[in-house]
Amino acid sequence: MSRFLDIGVASLVPYVPGEQPKDAGYIKLNTNESPYPPSPSVIAAVKAESEKLRLYSDPETSDLTAAIAEFYGVGQKNVIAGNGSDEILAFIFKAFFGEKGAACPDVSYGFYPVFCSLFGIKYNPVPLDENFMIDASAYADVTDNVVIANPNAQTGIYLPLDKVEEIARSRPDRLVVVDEAYVDFGGETAVPLTKKYNNLIVVQTFSKSRQLAGGRVGFAVADESLINDIKTVKYSFNPYNVGRLGIAAGCAAMKDREYFDACRSKIIATRGRVAYELAKLGFTVLPSKANFLLIRHGDVGGEEMYRALKQRGVLVRHLKDERIKDFVRVTIGTDDEMDVFLKKTAEILGELK
Ligand code: PMP
Repeated sequence: MSRFLDIGVASLVPYVPGEQPKDAGYIKLNTNESPYPPSPSVIAAVKAESEKLRLYSDPETSDLTAAIAEFYGVGQKNVIAGNGSDEILAFIFKAFFGEKGAACPDVSYGFYPVFCSLFGIKYNPVPLDENFMIDASAYADVTDNVVIANPNAQTGIYLPLDKVEEIARSRPDRLVVVDEAYVDFGGETAVPLTKKYNNLIVVQTFSKSRQLAGGRVGFAVADESLINDIKTVKYSFNPYNVGRLGIAAGCAAMKDREYFDACRSKIIATRGRVAYELAKLGFTVLPSKANFLLIRHGDVGGEEMYRALKQRGVLVRHLKDERIKDFVRVTIGTDDEMDVFLKKTAEILGELK
């Protein structure tokens, strides 16, 4: 720490992203990326756009918001795009949460409390129930704004849409942000509900189901007045927040519905098979509608499992949160990758005997 560091920043505990090893030898199942490449139309669009990199990108990201609006059947004025959904979430926390505080599931995306400390927002963790499910009724008396990930981060468990609606409807005077980073792997989006509830914001990303984690593209859909408020933060921070390559990639990915459907179907099928095999090996597997599984085995701790797999060339994620420290989180890769993961896992369990 330098002697110049702002005292408010010195006390921050920043978010720790999953490892991104330079060594390509690992089977990488630790940061919920897609194991499949971007669609060929995305690669062509990025190549064509790269000739225009001399020029700033469109600050309104019009082509991208138009493609998103068309896909979801909402108005273009109901959409804002960002440099990954992390940036969109940051804009939202900054725009709306100062006086309200943020109520979030106690096990969820680790960035929510980090945004709270960055922006001086009160963080109010609301416990998941004993089955790691979000209890919608627990939010009925909460006056803070609400942020939930659905499916929830780390657990992968999906909260049915009528419960999301219940949270939005119960208190129109607070905002409800639904972070749908993983919704395309078996959940149903709350985007249509944004037409009915002007206190609801849905956030999504291109990082998981549209194979663009490195492209850094995310977006939010909400009532126009909320989108305009988010834009006030964006234009006070970084007007050209999405680069030309991100816009081009995002547009092409949104338009290639066939490729999107093919990739997510493969991941859903692989997830089902791997969950079944893991249960046979004696794992507790939380019921996931995301592109990852949170798993626990009575014979081996979470950290131990993570290390043993890493030693064998498979990277998974171990999260230190108290309630899930006995688990590891495993991203769904290709079938071949998952076969190696299953084989190494069985090997590790075998060695314990
Ligand atoms: N929300 C959740 C629940 C996530 O797991 C992630 C990925 N780490 C994000 C948002 C951020 O995704 P990105 O910034 O890549 O769009």
